[in-house]
Amino acid sequence: MTLTERLNKNNLSFDDLVALLAADKEESNLLFEKARDIKERYVSNNLYLRGIIEMSNICRKNCFYCGIRKDNRKVKRYDMDDSEVIQVIKNAYDQGLSSLVFQTGEQKSPAFVKRIDGLLRAAKKLSNGKLGITLSCGEQDKETYKRWFESGAHRYLLRIETANKALYQKLHPADNIHSFDERLQALEIIKETGYQVGTGVMIGLPFQTYENLAADLLFMKKMDIDMCGMGPYIEHEATPLYKYRNLLYPLDERLLLSFKMIALLRILMNDINIAATTALQAIRQYARERAFLCGANVVMPNITPLAYRDDYKLYKNKPGLKQDADDSLKMIDQNFKNIGAHLKINQWGDSLHFARKKTT
Ligand code: SAH
Ligand code: SF4
Repeated sequence: MTLTERLNKNNLSFDDLVALLAADKEESNLLFEKARDIKERYVSNNLYLRGIIEMSNICRKNCFYCGIRKDNRKVKRYDMDDSEVIQVIKNAYDQGLSSLVFQTGEQKSPAFVKRIDGLLRAAKKLSNGKLGITLSCGEQDKETYKRWFESGAHRYLLRIETANKALYQKLHPADNIHSFDERLQALEIIKETGYQVGTGVMIGLPFQTYENLAADLLFMKKMDIDMCGMGPYIEHEATPLYKYRNLLYPLDERLLLSFKMIALLRILMNDINIAATTALQAIRQYARERAFLCGANVVMPNITPLAYRDDYKLYKNKPGLKQDADDSLKMIDQNFKNIGAHLKINQWGDSLHFARKKTT
């Protein structure tokens, strides 16, 4: 079967996905065009913004790929003051960013749980309920997810990283705080609690195959997720996975593979929100714009104060270390308008998929 024939099928099978992930540059363009058509039909050319605040790099975990893992002693640990976070939130809201993401390393102390709760309430209060908040604070127990939901968070991002348990285990220490089954269960609890659920994977990991990536796509479809944030894996020299860097695809191939993943997910799940992630931009300057043209409809300007950016490096070459919220918004405005995006400020841009599920 030719790739064009596969692309014209109504339901892409596992074999179709594997074949399409292996498409060459020319064939990939057909895939991107199809994904773009579907995007325009189902979610239009709107582009939604999520201002992301990296509130703390303190983390109890030791994921083998991540630059802020607990055992990386070279990182200066920080925890923004509540007053500082609130100032960032206010500025963002004044700039028209009405949808924000609170992201942190994974912390589970009662004080942390209470703190996030307080910040959620403060954000809701200062905006008369107009700010929409997404959380990305790792695995928590059921009570915590519920408490934060009741305090106003309505979306949660927790990447599965890879849907293949054996590969997951190669990327994490073998102990009970890095359990694949628990991460999966956390995603289920997030969904049951009522959040719009976001997950995602890293693309181009050592040991990862096209078959693994095809299975990741089918996993997201089966989980019936509402949002996805996925991007290339980028090595960080102070992590255990760095020793496998010679197994990696070159960066440009990881980038192309990421675009293919975005396009295929758009074809599989027409009306979800898909982010053009920051890691794409770490490889090529205009990669987020290209992702928009392959099916993404969300972009996440970093609004963390510049003083902390250097200490929140999950991977090398993380962009925007010197670009503040104002500049990054201006750049997004210019660059995305140039490629036909309708930039939607002052809007939550909730997942249409989530809304549809609720009404059917
Ligand atoms: N601690 C939370 C949220 C912060 S980490 C959590 O783990 O869920 C956010 C994401 O950064 C992770 O889910 C992972 O997919 C991504 N990440 C970490 N290290 C990375 C690397 N080296 N390359 C690309 N993405 C990475
Ligand atoms: Fe911590 Fe998240 Fe990094 Fe893992 S990926 S070490 S949980 S910040």
